[in-house]
Amino acid sequence: MTVRNTVEIGDVRITLVEELVMPTSVRWMLPDHPAPFELLDNCRSWLEPHFLNERGHILQSMHSWVIEADGMRIVVDTGIGNDKDREAEGYDGWHMRNGPYLADLAEAGSPAKKIDVVLNTHLHSDHAGWNTKWTNGHWAPTFVNARYQLVQQEWRYWDKVADSCPNIIEDSVRPLFEANVVDLVTADHRVSDSVELEPSHGHTPGHVCVRINSHGKSAIILGDVIHSPIQCAAPEQRPPLDSFIKEARIARRAFLERYADTDTIVLGSHFHTPAAGMIRRTGSTYRFDVAEA
Ligand SMILES: [Zn+2]
Repeated sequence: MTVRNTVEIGDVRITLVEELVMPTSVRWMLPDHPAPFELLDNCRSWLEPHFLNERGHILQSMHSWVIEADGMRIVVDTGIGNDKDREAEGYDGWHMRNGPYLADLAEAGSPAKKIDVVLNTHLHSDHAGWNTKWTNGHWAPTFVNARYQLVQQEWRYWDKVADSCPNIIEDSVRPLFEANVVDLVTADHRVSDSVELEPSHGHTPGHVCVRINSHGKSAIILGDVIHSPIQCAAPEQRPPLDSFIKEARIARRAFLERYADTDTIVLGSHFHTPAAGMIRRTGSTYRFDVAEA
């Protein structure tokens, strides 16, 4: 059974639906850090037990957040997907998956056909995979009653580099245009009264976070601005995943500055469940404190 977590922000319910958990070495996560294991030890008290297992691996999660707000169901990020050729990515459990994501989504109360809007924080293979599924010999939209709101500058970038395009664009994004289910939107687009995009480019050129505001409470879905809570303690450090290293670093710093010591609940897009917490300043860096249910 899939792990879930539900967070309530005013009238809005936000539910994590997990697709895959990947235990990851801190050395891979922070390849440029001079003493990653020392850093891990220093952060152990707040990383354990949710984000660090007993073998000393950081737990990374691939998941969707489903927002129920303003009479709509909005899925943010669609994971890796089934039946997709992901040999080139090289990660365990990604290539030609046969996972229960759709059943888990339904069990969490949001079957694919009830989703009204799909948002991708960006168009990487672990965020847009379930945009489509293999149906009658072709890739068709998974969320058959949804509009897919793609950020214009993100799409333009991937569309332009199509010659060397990763499979994700061909099997999980172009078919959406062919099915005429895409609305191109700005990076500060308002999806509904309570849900809006917040520009945070760097990791990719059109990367966005998703902000939720309701009755004076707020939350923000992080996307890949920060991949692991341990980066709060070493904001200059990063896994080898950012398209634009300098811009990604600026976006990460700006995010930490903006949300540290506020009441905004940060919803990680790769943080292991419960994946929801608050950023707290400690000296010149930060920590991530899990939000108590
Ligand atoms: Zn990612």
